[in-house]
Parts: sequence; structure tokens; C-alpha cells
Amino acid sequence: MFFDAIAGLFSHDLAIDLGTANTLVYSKGKGIVCSEPSVVAVTCENGGRSQRVRAVGHAAKEMLGRTPGNIQAIRPIKDGVIADFEITEAMLRYFIQRAHNRRTLTRPRIVICVPPCITSVEKRAVRESALSAGAREVFLIEEPMAAAIGAGLDVTAATGNMVVDIGGGTTDVAVISLSGIVTSRSIRVGGDKMDEAIINYVKRKYNMLIGEQTAEKVKIQIGTASTESKTKEMELKGRDLVAGIPKVVVATSDEMREALVEPIHAIIETVHLTLEKTPPELAADIVDRGIMLVGGGSLLTDLDHLLRQETRLPILRSEDPYTAVVHGAGKALDNISLLREVALV
Ligand code: ADP
Ligand code: MG
Repeated sequence: MFFDAIAGLFSHDLAIDLGTANTLVYSKGKGIVCSEPSVVAVTCENGGRSQRVRAVGHAAKEMLGRTPGNIQAIRPIKDGVIADFEITEAMLRYFIQRAHNRRTLTRPRIVICVPPCITSVEKRAVRESALSAGAREVFLIEEPMAAAIGAGLDVTAATGNMVVDIGGGTTDVAVISLSGIVTSRSIRVGGDKMDEAIINYVKRKYNMLIGEQTAEKVKIQIGTASTESKTKEMELKGRDLVAGIPKVVVATSDEMREALVEPIHAIIETVHLTLEKTPPELAADIVDRGIMLVGGGSLLTDLDHLLRQETRLPILRSEDPYTAVVHGAGKALDNISLLREVALV
């Protein structure tokens, strides 16, 4: 009790996975303390010249697509890049303050996972946002590196490991060896593009408009990457584009597979192209060790199955694809020499 109280006076260091779809915060000694959509709702004031943050996370996501004219729900990290600095900073501040108990004596050390190929301007912006939100020291780690650590791979060894992270906005494919990213490729195709593909398919086939949230639900419930999956059905509700009134149709998993062909093909192609760019010794390692899948998008039914068929390599799924990145960053927090080795400068 006494020691807990004393320990509570010192700060809890934090690891933050700033994803395009979800932000996760890990607090040293407590585990994951916060997991919310990366969405901020703002109102425009002074005739559109300034914005005021109204809600962040779950509360803001609820508002997406349902906002009255003056409230805007913004996803500040689009396609893996920070599209809106001010809003990203507001979001970081919210998550840090939620996770960090301000009655502590010291300010936290914070590890933030950033998209690979982040520019130096973006790096500085993320760093400064975290410092101004109360961090004592900030480390940036590239997401694929954090994901590999989180998935339990030995990133410091002289062995090639391939990680494929299918997030909301992007798919990042990286080959890691000796604590560095040897080669990587990122495409702006991930869960969001899959949702968009479903919306377009339903529009074409049924003359019906469905919302983004509905499309995401359909994808998760009956979406699939393979023709060999078990057939499932689901009722879809939307607005008839001709009659203009609400309507319901029954969609099948096979239709959703057809709808998803393009984004899935793009992901597989990116894996192939990265493999082609991989030095032969490391490619040989990958043949033995396989490809590690992480990110929420990797949960699409039978995507692992299709990848196995297309690459003829072993495909592994991390234990919890949603949290691999933040857990990896958390492990790095616990091991300062590893952290210094993998952090970006
Ligand atoms: P990010 O790191 O970009 O924030 P996440 O790794 O949190 O992204 O993944 C979010 C994406 O995963 C969303 O597009 C979501 O729809 C998708 N997703 C979550 N669960 C599933 C599932 N079971 N099947 C297919 N896609 C899923
Ligand atoms: Mg991610």
C-alpha cells in the first residue's frame, strides 16, 4: 500500500500509438489505459477563422456523418500523414492528460509511434505537441518497428523479419533487421479504402447509398478476402438513390469479396514489391520465418489465407493485431537501451 502510494507520486511513462483509425495509450505499470478512435469534433467560430474542440475519441466518432452544419468531425491523421497539426496536437493533449495523473511529481517520458516515412517537419510537430502536453522527454518510433517488437520478434538480431501493418488509412510493409528498417513501402490503402469500396459496390449494384459506419460494420461481419470462405449474409440499410427513401437489401459475403478485390489486390501487390526489394539473405530469412500481420485490417476474414496462397510464405498473425504497436512501444519503454537503439533522431 505504502509503496503503491509512493510509486503513484511518480509519473507513469506512456507509449502512444497514434493511428489513422485508433489511438491507443499504454501506461507503464498499468497496461493499456485508453483506446479510442482518432477523431476530433470541432465547431467553427468567428466566421470559420478559428476552431474549438468539442469532443475527442468515441464521443467524436459518434458524430461522424451525423453532425449539424457547424460541427465538423475531423480525423487529423489521414492516409498515414498528419493532415492537421493543430487538431493532432489537441488530440494528443487530450489523450496524454486522460492517461496521466497530474498529481504526480514528475512529468512522463513518452514514446510515440509514428508512420514510417514521416517528414522532419512532422516529427518536430509531434515532438513539440507531446512536450507542450506535458512530456518530460519524447521518443519517436516507427510503427513497423514497434509492431515487430510488440509481436515478439527479435528486432536487434541480424535476421530479416517482415511486418505487414494494415491500418485504417495505410498498409505499411517493412523488413526489419539489426534494429533498423531495411526496406519499406507504404500505400494509402487500408480499412478505410475497403469501406469505400463497399460503399461504391452497393451504390452500383443496388442503387443505394450507405454510410461509412455501416460499410465498416458490413466489412467486419461478412467481408472476406477469399472465395473459399463460408457464405454469410447481412441486412444492409441505406437510402435508395432513385426513390430517395430508406431501403433494406440483403448482402452476401461473396458480394463483399467482389467489392473488396481492388484494395486487397493493392495490399498483396505491395507485399510482392517489398519482397522484390529485399536483399537476398533477408529474403531467405523471411522464407523461414514468414510474414507477421498486424493492424485491425489484418482481421479481415481469410486475408491471411489469401496472402499465404499468393506468396507461398508462412503467414503469422500477432496475438492481438490492434495492440501490437502500442505494446511494442511499451516494451521499448521498459528497456531503455532498446529504446535508444530503435528511436528516430
Ligand atoms: P490504425 O493503426 O490506422 O489506427 P487499426 O490498426 O486500429 O488502424 O485498424 C483499424 C482498421 O481495422 C479499421 O479500418 C477497421 O475497420 C479495421 N478492422 C477492425 N476489425 C476488423 C475486422 N474484423 N475485419 C476487417 N477489418 C477490421
Ligand atoms: Mg496502426
